[in-house]
Amino acid sequence: MATLLKGAPVAKEIAALTAERAAKLAEEGITPTLALVRVGESDADVYYERAAMKRCEACGIAVRNYTFPDKVEEDELILRIRQLNVDDSVHGVLIFRPLPKHISDARVRASLDVRKDVDGITDASLGGIFTGTRVGFNPCTAESALSILRYYGVKLEGARAAVIGRSLVIGKPVSQLLMNENATVTVCHSKTKNLNEELRRADIIVTAVGKPGTVTVGAVRPGQVIVDVGIATDENGNMVGDVEFNDCAPFVGAITPVPGGVGAVTTAILAYHTVQAAIRARG
Ligand code: NAP
Repeated sequence: MATLLKGAPVAKEIAALTAERAAKLAEEGITPTLALVRVGESDADVYYERAAMKRCEACGIAVRNYTFPDKVEEDELILRIRQLNVDDSVHGVLIFRPLPKHISDARVRASLDVRKDVDGITDASLGGIFTGTRVGFNPCTAESALSILRYYGVKLEGARAAVIGRSLVIGKPVSQLLMNENATVTVCHSKTKNLNEELRRADIIVTAVGKPGTVTVGAVRPGQVIVDVGIATDENGNMVGDVEFNDCAPFVGAITPVPGGVGAVTTAILAYHTVQAAIRARG
């Protein structure tokens, strides 16, 4: 049976470091502060917002909520983001996405100051992953996947990694972050031919699709490490990942559970980024 790569101990370690740094800032009279900007009442957003607030408050980070109705005008939302950009008491801004269709995601992303972009949504943050300039931050979920691999001592240098998914939120940044760690990376997506063949060749699989059954027992081999970022609901209403867990877990070396894997680490990374943003702002 595979080793379970649980997120909780990873999150605990990151949260402890975050709380320590937040306490030092507090001694200097600085309260690291995160603004949560939410449009609408989607269950997923409300759930994540609660989890983020709980995590931040436990680490000594203040949270301010800015909640807008579904029908909010794009300009009103952007005005708020611009106000947060120039508010020195706010160090990080998280904007819940996807936004409603009448709002331009590109315009909203472009309106955020990269220095406060704690979830890596701006072009400058994303570009920084490729260029190595640390102006912004990595997207939290992508960084969570890497944090799990590092915490459990998975060797990345020289490893063959297959990433399934090429979104800007997860697939692309995870691929580049793995490459930055000297892994040899194959990026798979909906047009990939012979997905199973690509996956079987890999030492590490990171899957971020959102479709249960994307990774089946036919795609895995002994010793592989699987990080399952996908989130979906099965026919019984249970949260599941992309991997057919019960079939694959007996064969592979290590695997993250869903729930309790990547998702458990994401809020700790968000809190960590907020404190780092406060440290950078202090100079
Ligand atoms: P997304 O934008 O929908 O991207 C999904 C990717 O999967 C696309 O690149 C798509 O390929 C690829 N894909 C779709 N069907 C495929 C198939 N049959 N075979 C291979 N690749 C396929 O989703 P996302 O925003 O990246 O999110 C991915 C998953 O992560 C979702 O389940 C989401 O809920 C979850 N998530 C988890 C966390 C967490 O903390 N654990 C946080 C955020 C999101 P194309 O590019 O060709 O369309």
